[in-house]
Amino acid sequence: MGGDNDLVPNGSGAHGTYDEEQSLDQLYRDVIFEHYRRPHNKGILPGAQIVTKGSNPVCGDRVTVYGKVDGGGRLEQVTFDGKGCAICIASSSMMTEAVRGKSLEEASRMSDHFKAMMRNEVPFEAPPQVPDLEALEGVRKFSVRVKCATLSWTSLKTGILQYQAGKRGEASADESCAVE
Ligand code: ZN
Repeated sequence: MGGDNDLVPNGSGAHGTYDEEQSLDQLYRDVIFEHYRRPHNKGILPGAQIVTKGSNPVCGDRVTVYGKVDGGGRLEQVTFDGKGCAICIASSSMMTEAVRGKSLEEASRMSDHFKAMMRNEVPFEAPPQVPDLEALEGVRKFSVRVKCATLSWTSLKTGILQYQAGKRGEASADESCAVE
């Protein structure tokens, strides 16, 4: 072997796997930053029956989640607005895609399931309609960032519960209280 590359300490064997892991991480970072730069469904949703503010004081993320419910009790459209870190914005963007067209019950279940995945309580699997969600799997390693990823999902669930309880209007969800 040439040995002219001192940036690679082990010239043979295991570093191939290491490189693969690195490029996978890079791929996931790219997916997250793509959603951060061009979030889907970002903005106020006029006529939304569900409006929930959520905040994650640890990171400074603040989002408002909007949901429009159609006559059949399905989420016709979901949007979000606010400011947050890349993980928060990317996860919010993916959430709006994941729950669109779902019944309120399904969307609530998806919120619970996403939180359970992020807390490592169930195996991580991205829903078929939002394969990008897989990019958030690596966030589980950083427990302080998990709340960034779950904030808008928690906010949506809080808003759905309020809506189902007949209390239309603004609700608020605070991740610092909701997570142990
Ligand atoms: Zn954050």
